[in-house]
Amino acid sequence: MDLDIATLLMAIINWFILAAMVGGVIFLVLYLRRKSEHRCPDCHKKVPADGQVCPYCGKPLS
Ligand SMILES: [Zn+2]
Repeated sequence: MDLDIATLLMAIINWFILAAMVGGVIFLVLYLRRKSEHRCPDCHKKVPADGQVCPYCGKPLS
């Protein structure tokens, strides 16, 4: 029975490591997305991330 508990514990630890890695990757992606500057593709000025059109030249932002 000791072996079964050890196997179960290893499985739980493995799931924790996997969850931590996935969570870390998601956090990193969100962090980098937040940090990256949004620039207008036409006039290359800094524009708000949630903007629909460039406030300087009126180019639609995708
Ligand atoms: Zn622009």
